[in-house]
Amino acid sequence: MKGGIELLILKGGTVVTLGEDCRVIEDSGLVIDGETITGVGKSNDILAEYGNKEGVTVKDLGGRLVIPGFLNAHMHLYSSFARGMSIAGPSPKTFKEILERLWWSMDKDLMTEEELYYSALIGAIDSLKSGTTAILDHHASFGMIEGSLDVLEKALKDAGLKGSLCFEVSDRWGPKARDASIEENVRFIRKNANDPFVRAMFGLHASFTLEDETLKRCAEEAEGLNASFHFHLAEGLADVTDARERGYKGVTDRLYELGVLIPGSLAIHGVHIDEPEIELLAKCGVNVVHNPESNMNNAVGVPNVVGMIAKGVNVGLGTDGYTPSMLESAKVAYIIHKHERRDPTVGWTETAKMLFESNAAIFSAHFGKPMGVIKEGAAADLVVLDYYPPTPLTPQNLLGHLIFGIRDSAVNTVIAGGREVVKDHVLVSVDEESVMAEAKKVAERYWKKRS
Ligand SMILES: [Zn+2]
Repeated sequence: MKGGIELLILKGGTVVTLGEDCRVIEDSGLVIDGETITGVGKSNDILAEYGNKEGVTVKDLGGRLVIPGFLNAHMHLYSSFARGMSIAGPSPKTFKEILERLWWSMDKDLMTEEELYYSALIGAIDSLKSGTTAILDHHASFGMIEGSLDVLEKALKDAGLKGSLCFEVSDRWGPKARDASIEENVRFIRKNANDPFVRAMFGLHASFTLEDETLKRCAEEAEGLNASFHFHLAEGLADVTDARERGYKGVTDRLYELGVLIPGSLAIHGVHIDEPEIELLAKCGVNVVHNPESNMNNAVGVPNVVGMIAKGVNVGLGTDGYTPSMLESAKVAYIIHKHERRDPTVGWTETAKMLFESNAAIFSAHFGKPMGVIKEGAAADLVVLDYYPPTPLTPQNLLGHLIFGIRDSAVNTVIAGGREVVKDHVLVSVDEESVMAEAKKVAERYWKKRS
């Protein structure tokens, strides 16, 4: 017992700490006190110090691999109800048509608390079961704006997934919806800016659905709240054409001139940006988040991630709602740039940097606590994998084991915010079977309403 708080000791796992002094510790011992890791060492040493104290729970990991939980730097929980849904009429031929006929049409019909709650809960459950312990979500539900982020917060907290939420401000549904979406960000940032489990950012959809006046107004609001932005950047060519038609050199220049490129903000995709724009993002301290599978699925092109990293942009990795799995996203990030450039020498360094270093930097800065690393004082967010390395595991080669050896099905245990939420492959925070059954009923009503 330490200050009346129970301690959890994880013994006997093979830990890869990540972080600046990355170490592999076999037969490790980890001490978790509330939401924080307070001890890292060998099992024997940790047990000798804490093993016989009162209020200590010891869990034996049986030689399994322990790494920091995966961090997903761009997610859309609301996309869960699109699974298996068909789009009426002929297949969309452009990215803009995909947006208009699928995503925008979907988000205007998300109208009730139960629709928001269950779509978010499904995404949260799937994230946790694939080993993700925290997400940065980008939300849109123009059928229910006010209070929507509270519903998502409840879903995240019920499931036990850490996150940061924002609402995608847009002019696409008129001034009333625009004003309400700005107000929802402001309200939620005021409420959750310092919440240790569910934080807040200021969401913007994408430059081409936002008027200059709206962007200026959002920049003023964000400055007053000391908040940073989360927005799609030049995902498709339509975004670039729009910015040029408005008299700007490109999307990045437009956002810069209107005050949106605040340090710590997240620019998602950046598929169609040139070298000066990359330099501008680096200069402003804006992070880019790469979502390779989503880019392929929408056929929008491949961003110059290699060039961005070389120019000093902090490029993180996300999934854009295409999948909850960061392991899957990393596997594709690893091969897409080789394929695109016909150059087998790229991909490794960039993917390791995005998945381990840059995501950790983004989340640590946003949550105000070390994340994506196992060390004293870091967040107690861990994933334990049923993986016993058949080849040497070193501080430098974890990515090789992840890409070529570890499957999502290997996720054995997940601890997020110090809480064990997946135990022996089973989600223990909520009853998954009954949640899925209820979600199916809600999704069925939602689909019917739209047909
Ligand atoms: Zn997105």
